[in-house]
Amino acid sequence: MNVRKKRFLFYTLLAGVFTLLFLLVISALNSSTAPIHIEVQAEELIQTPLSALVPIEVPSLPLDKPEQPLPAQVDIIPTPMPSVQMDMIPAPTPSVQVITAPPQTTSVTVDTYMPNGVVAPSASSKVSIPVLNYHSVTIDPGNVVVISPAKLEAQMKYLHDHGYTPISLATFINLIENKSGFAAPDKPVLLTFDDGYVDNVEEAMPILAKYKFPATLFMSPGMVEDAGYLNWEQATQLQEAGWDIQPHGMTHPHLPKLSAEQQAYEITEARKLIEEKLGTQADVFCYPYGEYNQTTVKLLKEHGFRYAFTIDQGYTTNQQSPYLLKRLFINGEESLKVFINKLSKAN
Ligand SMILES: [Zn+2]
Repeated sequence: MNVRKKRFLFYTLLAGVFTLLFLLVISALNSSTAPIHIEVQAEELIQTPLSALVPIEVPSLPLDKPEQPLPAQVDIIPTPMPSVQMDMIPAPTPSVQVITAPPQTTSVTVDTYMPNGVVAPSASSKVSIPVLNYHSVTIDPGNVVVISPAKLEAQMKYLHDHGYTPISLATFINLIENKSGFAAPDKPVLLTFDDGYVDNVEEAMPILAKYKFPATLFMSPGMVEDAGYLNWEQATQLQEAGWDIQPHGMTHPHLPKLSAEQQAYEITEARKLIEEKLGTQADVFCYPYGEYNQTTVKLLKEHGFRYAFTIDQGYTTNQQSPYLLKRLFINGEESLKVFINKLSKAN
């Protein structure tokens, strides 16, 4: 083969190759564009749902952390915040009532020491009353708790002549509670006799009757059979003469030395017997020996006693605890002058 033939074959082959290449390129261009687009769309479709799933998985992520978030949610559910609020909604109503009521009763008892239900008097309306504390009325020189009938007579005369008004226990309570509209008598004074000695009916009663003076007697019903003490018949005589009969313990015990049960018996049984025998209200107590403890006062409150007298010295005021009312001890050995000074010395 010569050179010309080789060149001819070479160019022919070359042209054929180019033709083939051209045809291939054409066919490739025609067939490859569509699949490419499809793939792109497929990727887009895949990516779209993937990106769409993301927001779904994001909220579902917390569900993948149930260990922590769920308990929190569980807490929220049982905790029933709304139910708690519901509980608190009705609560305010009673709590408001509780808040409104107690301040009055509390301030009454705490600030002015007035018993429940008693209107607290203002500080400017302080009530101060001398409550005289007598015991036996007979002749017993040297015994300071005994006053002679003559001395008692002189004291009652002094009260009468100097405008004092011995008052009943009911009047005393009206005054100490500062009852509105209650006309206070001139120079009120409460006469009290402790223990229930028989000489009270024999000696004191006639003297007081002479001046039409009422009095208050604190007796121990467990001693009505004992010599020297009033029996029920004599107590009734005093009551009919205008004396208020109130309890002084069943057996005149040292209350702080007793158990709560024993104290309760001494306090309530004395009241019960007086109320049964004399048909009166006996809810004003007087501590035997002036002795009491927290249990005593608690028991008096629990059993509805309104007041209790001590032997603490001083005028009785509406600013004292109703269970710690003071009195003025009348020493049978003291002169009339001392008695007068004691009466006029307000504190
Ligand atoms: Zn006594």
